[in-house]
Amino acid sequence: MISGRCAACKYLRRRCPSDCIFSPYFPSNNPQRFACVHRIYGASNVAKMLQQLPAHLRAEAANSLYYEAQSRTQDPVYGCVGVISLLHQQIHSVESQLAKTEAEIAVLNSLAQEPAQIQEHEVEAAFNNFLLEQDIIASRRFGHSTYISSNFI
Ligand SMILES: [Zn+2]
Repeated sequence: MISGRCAACKYLRRRCPSDCIFSPYFPSNNPQRFACVHRIYGASNVAKMLQQLPAHLRAEAANSLYYEAQSRTQDPVYGCVGVISLLHQQIHSVESQLAKTEAEIAVLNSLAQEPAQIQEHEVEAAFNNFLLEQDIIASRRFGHSTYISSNFI
């Protein structure tokens, strides 16, 4: 049954046994999948890795081996670590933006409560509101430093 050989056995030009370790994970219709994994890890190492795992985890392992092998082929220096560290950078950047936005919200909330605390001095409150509006407009145009520093004048 030559036509029934899996991609690995076809690639290795050998008979595909009924209990072939590669057969469920490297189908003959996707020869590139095995070729990629074989190039990076070697067929015997892949077979050993799959055999050491419980059968229900082998499909996931084969998928991750393929992903890692593809990453290593595309990026010989960093492989999938390059993708991981790029994602870490993105997470760090987004966390910084989130912290900054939360700080801005806290400042705006505290400023919004200020007029209520000084209701007795209506003229002063009105003046502060005027300054606040000017500061918000300025902060939208020029950034936060203008907004924060002029608030304490
Ligand atoms: Zn096979």
